[in-house]
Amino acid sequence: MRTSDPWKECSKCKKIKSVYDFSGEQTLCKECSDTRRKMRMDRASKYHHTLAQSIKVEVLTHYGDGKCACIKCGFSDIRALSIDHISGNGSYHTKSIRGNLYRWLQKEGYPDGYQTLCMNCQFIKKWKNSEWRGRSQ
Ligand SMILES: [Zn+2]
Ligand SMILES: [Zn+2]
Repeated sequence: MRTSDPWKECSKCKKIKSVYDFSGEQTLCKECSDTRRKMRMDRASKYHHTLAQSIKVEVLTHYGDGKCACIKCGFSDIRALSIDHISGNGSYHTKSIRGNLYRWLQKEGYPDGYQTLCMNCQFIKKWKNSEWRGRSQ
């Protein structure tokens, strides 16, 4: 056996592979280190997902008067709940936040002027607002 033996055993899948299937001094073949990296990334994104979800629940609960539900109709499916800017000029405000409104609200110590609404109630509010604006012009 030559010292420059081009074969190596992967410490994970135990397959004997060419050293070209390993990157540098790795003990894992490229395939296994790829799977490992993917798993890590998966776990990281899942973690971030649940973290974002828990922030959302906290913020929605705060602005939902202690309940993670719409303050108008009590609808409590988080997928249809979001933060509404009470005065209605939320679009400008949201743009200036750039990114995660929930995280921003939490960081700012829950400023006043927001409420938890479901999509229905938000839509109804918008519709009423635009009707009102339309009439006043
Ligand atoms: Zn391997
Ligand atoms: Zn509602």
